[in-house]
Amino acid sequence: MNRDDAPGTGPDGSAGMPRDLWRWMVAAGLLGFLAIAWWQGMHPAPSVAAIPYSRFKSLVAEDTVKDVSLQGESVRGTLKAPMVLASGQPATTEFSSYLPGFGDDQLLPLLAAHRVTVTAKPVAKGSFTDILIAAIPWLLLAGFFYWSYRRTSQLVGGDLGGQGRLGEFLRSGTQRAAVPEARFDDVAGQDNAKSEVAELVQYLRDPAKFARVGASAPRGVLLMGPPGTGKTLLARALAGEAGVPFFSISGSQFIEVFVGVGASRVRNLFAAARQNMPSIVFIDELDSIGRTRGTGLGGGHDEREQTLNQILAEMDGFTPRESVLVLAATNRPDILDPALLRPGRFDRHVVLDLPSRADREAILRVHVRKLPLATDVDLAALAAGMPGFSGADLRNLANEAAILAARADRGVVTRLDFEEARDKLLMGSVRRLAIQPDERHRLAVHESGHALVASCLPGADPLHKVTIIPRGRALGETRQLPENERYTLPEDYLKDRLAVMLAGRAAERQLLGNVSSGADEDIRNATRLARAMVARWGMSGEVGPMDLRDSEEAPFLGREIAQPRVYSEHSAEQVDRAVRALLVEAEARATAVVTGHAQQMQALVAALEDKETLDRPAIEACLAGAPRSTVAAVV
Ligand code: ADP
Ligand code: MG
Ligand code: ZN
Repeated sequence: MNRDDAPGTGPDGSAGMPRDLWRWMVAAGLLGFLAIAWWQGMHPAPSVAAIPYSRFKSLVAEDTVKDVSLQGESVRGTLKAPMVLASGQPATTEFSSYLPGFGDDQLLPLLAAHRVTVTAKPVAKGSFTDILIAAIPWLLLAGFFYWSYRRTSQLVGGDLGGQGRLGEFLRSGTQRAAVPEARFDDVAGQDNAKSEVAELVQYLRDPAKFARVGASAPRGVLLMGPPGTGKTLLARALAGEAGVPFFSISGSQFIEVFVGVGASRVRNLFAAARQNMPSIVFIDELDSIGRTRGTGLGGGHDEREQTLNQILAEMDGFTPRESVLVLAATNRPDILDPALLRPGRFDRHVVLDLPSRADREAILRVHVRKLPLATDVDLAALAAGMPGFSGADLRNLANEAAILAARADRGVVTRLDFEEARDKLLMGSVRRLAIQPDERHRLAVHESGHALVASCLPGADPLHKVTIIPRGRALGETRQLPENERYTLPEDYLKDRLAVMLAGRAAERQLLGNVSSGADEDIRNATRLARAMVARWGMSGEVGPMDLRDSEEAPFLGREIAQPRVYSEHSAEQVDRAVRALLVEAEARATAVVTGHAQQMQALVAALEDKETLDRPAIEACLAGAPRSTVAAVV
């Protein structure tokens, strides 16, 4: 499972020589320090009395001093017999003092007269301990430089072979990177994404074939999807399948390094990839460097911009004969700098979604391949109970279950291990909600309502897909895609849209007998839209063509600025009434569609509960027998 790990954390390259060397140096230093401390503890310095110079001279004059050693300005000496030299201290023979700075001409004759042994020493160069203490700041500084250097060299993922990161940094570009072991088989589900990426295998295996027929080489592919859906895995699997080296770099690592390093890392990475063509460059977490430029306040964004500009320059600099494929991954495609998405850069987009029930089961199967499973483990049931879990979550689940089994010394992983692991994962996160079966049914009814009304009303945008897989704050989603871009919004279209928005709630009331808080966002959006229809677009007969909006949109700030209200209380009431009328009418239309298509509703709800996600053909299959034209009559 290690090779699945994110770049930079893999164990393959991390135990290289320089890193070990560094650890040994720290360990040796600590040991030395301890040894010194121990030595000093065992041999305490004999107590030395510090005495004034005048006292020292009188001691000499009293004939009590045996010997003296002079070293620079320091004087040390021994008495002939122990004596109390300083009050409150034990008797000692050792004493120390200092010569006056200008020296003392009379000292040596005095010592000679009293037959004191005199030893003179050269001025101290410092003891070992002194040197060590003096060296500490320098050692720290050197350590810091080494550390930051190593961080920098870590920016290239662990795919350059096991030569250690420092050496790898120095040599990057001359060494052949490893081909990942991952294969498409390791990626379960994600069929759309897989088939789009699989096309590129052909190209990477034989780029010359494409060049011969004059086909333009694919250049940049952007993998988009929530965290843990297998973007990194898929990129590695592509390299593995095609048998080409994989050079990876992660956007988040650029934030902390020295200015200018990011851009030069990018340059080296692309240079290395060019030398090993055909090859893949993978930029993980592209959003952390690729945010829209110029939005940061003040400085501090230079590094990111330089890095981003270098990436753009490298991508633009490819000649058609250069077969380096650039892949990038992001979970925030919405904040990317538009320059990144231009033709010739990341112009191919591959979307990865959270897995549906069947896909979750398939992913679990991949990750239990090597586990000894007890017969009571039902992967299908397990997968069904984990909506909203990503591939990475499921890998963690399998891993956690295996750990539990190992801890209990059981030879096999049992159902209870999996259930305990799941509860553990659920507790650690608020994002993944444990959805109860009755809630799930309500969710299916709600989304089916949206889907049914969206497909039946003539003006509504065509359905793209409907899902009850929770994502973010939304428990489910019905996604419509307008057929072509709209610039003006006709009244009919808007009224249909209102009906679709309120259809989830209408379906809940019709099929379950009551409504729930699940329509919170729907009501909010519908009210906003209805208010705009009344107060801005003059679509209410009662209010007429009068601008009665209560706020002014400020497009450059992305928020609304409250404006002083310039209309009467009476007008405000009129607007409220008209808005309510629109909403009530829309809900009534939605209800009519739902009751008029009871059979189709049942089919949709059942299919949704079973599959969790329905695409357009699947929805149409459920609606068979209810062509749009007959629907109009019902409404
Ligand atoms: P992302 O890059 O989208 O955040 P990763 O590729 O890093 O996700 O996924 C992390 C791990 O989760 C993978 O290494 C793999 O073990 C597991 N995983 C994710 N998606 C899948 C999948 N579709 N099939 C099998 N394993 C998956
Ligand atoms: Mg990743
Ligand atoms: Zn809804």
